[in-house]
Amino acid sequence: MSFSMLHHDLLAVRTHRVRLMLQGAGWLLIGVGVPWALNFSIQGLWVLASIDVVLVVAGTIVLWSARNDHLRLGWILLISCAYLATSSLAFFLDVPDGKHPRSVHLFLLSLAFASYLMLQLERRILYLGVPILCMATFLVFASSSIGYQLPFAIPEAHRAANAWFNNLSAMVCLFIVMVLMHADIRVRTALEADLHAGLEQRQLVLHYQPQVDVDGRILGAEALVRWNHPLRGLVPPNEFIPLAEQCGMITAVGRVVLEAACLQLVEWSKNPDRAHLTIAVNVSAIQILEGTFVKEVTSVLDRTKADPTRLKIELTETMFANDLDDIIAKMAALRARGIAISLDDFGTGYSSLNYIKRLPLDQLKIDKSFVDDVLTDPSDAAIARTVVSLSQNLGLHVIAEGVETEAQRAFLESIGCKAYQGYLYSKPLAAADFEQFVQNWARTRHPHVRIVSGLESGGGKPRGA
Ligand code: C2E
Ligand code: MG
Ligand code: MG
Repeated sequence: MSFSMLHHDLLAVRTHRVRLMLQGAGWLLIGVGVPWALNFSIQGLWVLASIDVVLVVAGTIVLWSARNDHLRLGWILLISCAYLATSSLAFFLDVPDGKHPRSVHLFLLSLAFASYLMLQLERRILYLGVPILCMATFLVFASSSIGYQLPFAIPEAHRAANAWFNNLSAMVCLFIVMVLMHADIRVRTALEADLHAGLEQRQLVLHYQPQVDVDGRILGAEALVRWNHPLRGLVPPNEFIPLAEQCGMITAVGRVVLEAACLQLVEWSKNPDRAHLTIAVNVSAIQILEGTFVKEVTSVLDRTKADPTRLKIELTETMFANDLDDIIAKMAALRARGIAISLDDFGTGYSSLNYIKRLPLDQLKIDKSFVDDVLTDPSDAAIARTVVSLSQNLGLHVIAEGVETEAQRAFLESIGCKAYQGYLYSKPLAAADFEQFVQNWARTRHPHVRIVSGLESGGGKPRGA
């Protein structure tokens, strides 16, 4: 496999696939619909012609959505139209009689595999449920003569041609989907091997983004992993964490991250300027669901001799859709060791006040998406206020992430949020740059001063220093 293929991350490859499949399917719907619509119109079979017109319209919208990056709209429309059209044609018009077998249901097989490919990034209920529904419907039509013959049946002369046409195009569709699946597996396998090598060669590095309190003191940092790829450069976590989660490598990645963060804490503990700093580590749902998670964290702490009270673990709401009691027990065990637990991206998942009160938490993190428009969108401001008062009522700390401007910070302070993280202070920095940042920060007297330093810092001049 050429490196140019590897150069795309899996997400980009998938997005590209979905776009290609939507384009192919859009043209197919138009290509099938137009000749049949014309054919049936000439014969005055208006109901049949109008079904084909619907296919042409759906095909056009699917093409439009693929071109304009409305991929979700595209696949929802495509899968529902294709499923409904195929099933109703199979049930009402393509009912097998003694002479002609049913054929249109064969498209359901291609649809099952295509939807499995297209919905990979969706929830499990969708990427497994839709293909299973298609295959179950296929099975019913293939193994029975179930159907209701409408008065305007397909003319006898067309049925034989129809069967040939359907069988052939369904086979071509299936073949195309298989080729795409194979290409997908190749990209994925190559990326997995690449990540394996990356882990072995210690290419994963942590960057640190400062967390600052209302008086302008640096409380600590969030550790954000990057893959320092020899050819691709610094790869952001969103481009490989989902892959690591899918291929079972997230536990190894998580272990490396935790170990690096603990070693960093030990380093900082030797320097009076940094000894007070905490490190927040992100943990995936798959990691915490592993039976050995608590033992692993404990053994890393024991091995590195890091102070557990300086370590924070960030969980996300989505993981609470899993075995809640198990996760609560693990969180309690971690807290018993002195580790703090923060709820990341709060408000973006399926927040339920019912589980929040049951969780042994220390901190809520107001998600960046609310902070972004907190000054302009009254709903986001209301959500931020609610999260702050919820945390106050539950006795939890609260921190806002993605704070980019002083005005946002001031607003957050006015509603009672006393800790902030975001580009206002700094982008995530390599360890050495972060240490420099802390040192420079200590020299400035003013709270909420931005110091630009390090590899990743964007433009902008230090203010007020
Ligand atoms: P997160 O935990 O919500 O991290 C915050 C993300 O927002 C980081 O992106 C950070 O760089 C970015 N950010 C912070 N402040 C600002 C700001 O003011 N403006 C803007 N535009 N962005 C800001 P990053 O580093 O790309 O991380 C993305 C996500 O990847 C993280 O979201 C986290 O869910 C995940 N991640 C990062 N490191 C790890 C890790 O070690 N393990 C796991 N499982 N996930 C990780
Ligand atoms: Mg986080
Ligand atoms: Mg977050």
